[in-house]
Amino acid sequence: MSNPDDTDTAGRIYLVGAGPGDPELLTVKARRLLDEADIILHDKLSGPDILAQIDEDRLEDVGTRGHGDTTPQSYVNDRMVELAREGKAVVRLKGGDPTVFGRGGEEMAHLAEAGVPFEVVPGISSAIAASEAAGIPVTHREHASTFSVVTGHEDPNKAESAVDWEALAATGGTIVVLMGVGRLPEYTESLTAAGMDPETPVALVERATWPDQQVATGTLETIATAAEDAGIEPPAVTVIGEVASTREEVLEFLR
Ligand code: SAH
Repeated sequence: MSNPDDTDTAGRIYLVGAGPGDPELLTVKARRLLDEADIILHDKLSGPDILAQIDEDRLEDVGTRGHGDTTPQSYVNDRMVELAREGKAVVRLKGGDPTVFGRGGEEMAHLAEAGVPFEVVPGISSAIAASEAAGIPVTHREHASTFSVVTGHEDPNKAESAVDWEALAATGGTIVVLMGVGRLPEYTESLTAAGMDPETPVALVERATWPDQQVATGTLETIATAAEDAGIEPPAVTVIGEVASTREEVLEFLR
């Protein structure tokens, strides 16, 4: 694609969602761009089975993981601009959807500032895929008319928490927490303190749609212990709400 005549695609950045990990959950457009790109800058959440299908010499790992960034965002920003200026067609591949806690917004702003044309290709976010992979609908006529997607990464006890757990508790809908393994005890406690029933069902889904997917279930009161006993580690999504109770009814037939 770096053919200089190919003005449509040369020197362009594609911010592409990889979906939750199963290669068949890539969009058709993502699949095509992955096949055609000169280089793919990927993070750690771009499923291993997806990366395994791409020849290594086009892959560049710019991933961040857990609480500490292994690659500074500024490096990724500069690298994208540098490659685009070399006339390369670059896929910036991100787990799930590029703008759901994916810093897609920051990267778009940086590219615009540098005058680099870009396109955003949405992906299936783990915010919905993880729940479904565990047999849980995010909304349900009898159980939840809303679902909220929040980060569990920050300390719910800090004075200026950006996530208002009290307001979330009052929605009566499903609460989906991303990056929420480390602070599971804190925010489940915050929700109960805000008046949610301690018996509210909760599921934790680790590595949703990956071959080694794991699920732990419990209630607001028991899930922190259940997750620890099950050895749940990031990446995992926490699904909180009555919808999680329906899993039992469908589990036998869930493939
Ligand atoms: N842009 C991503 C989210 C990035 S934030 C998306 O739309 O899915 C990183 C968090 O996403 C992880 O901590 C975890 O909570 C969640 N996550 C991403 N992929 C996941 C997967 N396959 N299974 C479970 N959780 C996942």
